[in-house]
Amino acid sequence: MESISFMKKIQISSFLDYNREQHTLYMDASEVARRMLIREQDGVDISVLKCMDGRVNYSIFTNQPFGIVYPYKTIGGQFQTGSHFGEIHKNSVAKSWSKGRPCLIIVTYHWSKGDPSHRGCKGFDCKVDDARKYTENLAKQIDVMFGKNHAMAYPIQIGMETDHDALVLHGINGQTLDLSEVQHADSMSVLNSIRELYPDMSERMLACLLRQCMGNIAHIAEIKLAGRPVADIEHKETVLGIGRGYDWYHKPNSALIVGPYTYDLKAPTATAASIILGNIQAGRVSAEEGCALIASGNYRDEGPDKVWAAMKALQLLDDAIEVIREQVPELLSYLDSAAGILNEHTREFTIVRKEDAWLN
Ligand SMILES: [Zn+2]
Repeated sequence: MESISFMKKIQISSFLDYNREQHTLYMDASEVARRMLIREQDGVDISVLKCMDGRVNYSIFTNQPFGIVYPYKTIGGQFQTGSHFGEIHKNSVAKSWSKGRPCLIIVTYHWSKGDPSHRGCKGFDCKVDDARKYTENLAKQIDVMFGKNHAMAYPIQIGMETDHDALVLHGINGQTLDLSEVQHADSMSVLNSIRELYPDMSERMLACLLRQCMGNIAHIAEIKLAGRPVADIEHKETVLGIGRGYDWYHKPNSALIVGPYTYDLKAPTATAASIILGNIQAGRVSAEEGCALIASGNYRDEGPDKVWAAMKALQLLDDAIEVIREQVPELLSYLDSAAGILNEHTREFTIVRKEDAWLN
């Protein structure tokens, strides 16, 4: 028993070690300059709505550093505009707009070409047509919210195919562009293709989308060359992250993230916990090494903002443990847990505890 408990601690400490690495990278002068240059050239802010699935990482798919796109994650990418998500997202788009930056909103679903009925999205019972329909409707709802003239925001639907990490763009008139099948990968032909999909998109936004498409085409070529084994495209997550502030976490297929975007987090938390238990039971990950439950709150300012982030993380952790105890109790013996706060300026994650002096 002692050795299992020791190994469980390793999961949390490797999460913290990885954050230290990513925080150092994020603050490196050349990385800061690289991000500033991309953001300056884009003149557009990007939000990506996606599934909590660990295989679905838009920044990796598109070969761009973290900190450029703002990810929103929930099970199946099943966001609702009338929920808490709608409020957070609306405020974020308004903030970008007030700085003269329109928003490209990427609404995603995912599936597997090689084994659609097993390696697809658990949020939709691997039914890709349902996932397509849901996200098509979500993009339409967002369109209604920010205006169909697309001045403030332009929502587009994109499919993420997880065997080859390929994007499929859905145009506004029903056409699609599968980036794994692009014959002429020169930027002018790709630009022409995406202009056909979104004829009313501004030149500035088209250039931003083109940069991401070219990144994806290069990434698909790398994946094909590497010949990734099937074992790496099945679920292998060992970290269950609840809350916001995980965009620095870039290890593919190792964490399931449940964002706080619905009023009731019980169902997505239980689904994520059962996927991780399934990974252990199927032997895809080591039972001895266990898994980590992390709850995170993000903050920008010292004072109430930071204190509230800590209180939120602690609350989210208590609630998640309660759900797991009720619905997936078998996972508890493999689980170690921690709450923490993420500084948005530095992407540094710091553990918080109820007994910490600054919270009492
Ligand atoms: Zn999914």
